Amino acid sequence: MSVKKKDIRALSKDQLRFFFEESGDKAFRGNQVYEWLWSKGAHSFDDMTNIAKATRKTLEENFVINHIRVDQMQRSTDGTIKNAVRLHDGLIVESVLIPTPTRTTACVSSQVGCSLDCKFCATARLKRMRNLNPDEIYDQVMAIDKESRLYYNRPLSNIVFMGMGEPLMNYKNVIKAIDKITSPEGLAMSPKRITVSTSGVPKIIKKMADDEVKFKLAVSLHSAIDEVRTSIMPFNETFPLQDLKEAIEYWYEKTKSRVTYEYVVWDGINDRKEDINALVRFCSYVPCKVNLIEYNPIDDGMFQQAPNRVIEDYINALEQKNIIVNVRRSRGKDIDAACGQLANKT
Ligand code: SAH
Repeated sequence: MSVKKKDIRALSKDQLRFFFEESGDKAFRGNQVYEWLWSKGAHSFDDMTNIAKATRKTLEENFVINHIRVDQMQRSTDGTIKNAVRLHDGLIVESVLIPTPTRTTACVSSQVGCSLDCKFCATARLKRMRNLNPDEIYDQVMAIDKESRLYYNRPLSNIVFMGMGEPLMNYKNVIKAIDKITSPEGLAMSPKRITVSTSGVPKIIKKMADDEVKFKLAVSLHSAIDEVRTSIMPFNETFPLQDLKEAIEYWYEKTKSRVTYEYVVWDGINDRKEDINALVRFCSYVPCKVNLIEYNPIDDGMFQQAPNRVIEDYINALEQKNIIVNVRRSRGKDIDAACGQLANKT
């Protein structure tokens, strides 16, 4: 009778130690294997050269290592790298390395596809297939760290959860992945260098505050008027701005961590004076900053980036109220690696 092998990386270090103890070996063996699996990124049990052959065989009989594989890597003229990542079950997600003169940022996916239906986002065209496991998120980060060292001679410095999927709809696994990334066995990265971006799920934002997470929160706002926001982000109907506002206030009260609002300005959608006023008002609730993101067109031409004059109006209105505002140029457009363009085209 064949037994279904377990994903060894679903085990904690203690569980691994216990496995070895149970099988008459030393618990310490668990630490060694754990290190191979996480710090050293072993893809097979045979890579584990300081583990006895017989022990490797036992592991082989009981477990599998579900490693991701970078199937295809594309490099943009601006240095941005996009990885098409194959998961153990054949599904594919994308992750992106974004270099600037001072940092390397990894943009990682949290789900295969997405269950939200943002009208301006290419990922929304793929239906949500499944959540990523913690190790699948972690592996994307490790792959990008490796590429950063190889192509830019420096380790990865920042991570944003702005790839495919809605991270707060896969909260448990995202948290586990971040725990691993920030632990000494992972990249020992400071959580302050990690940003989780969400369309805004109020209940989970509050839970994050209760969990006292140390990473940063970004909210994809795009409009501070319910009617407008619902027309471009239909799930706003279920989670209206009033609920989002309360969740963000709760978040700030507990964490004292400034919130970033991501915002694209489109022709004929949110380019009126009242749209600007609504955003300025929304920004008065908690200390925040606004990232005005350049729109990355996706095929159908339904949306068009508003002219610079409107962007200037936004900047002036926000700055008048001392709200920090950055204009974010898009990166990696030529390889469909920019925000909202991840759609497994290749
Ligand atoms: N689901 C999460 C994270 C993924 S989207 C979220 O909504 O935040 C990452 C960012 O890209 C979000 O701010 C999203 O609104 C933005 N985005 C989506 N499509 C875009 C497009 N075509 N051009 C520019 N930004 C886009």
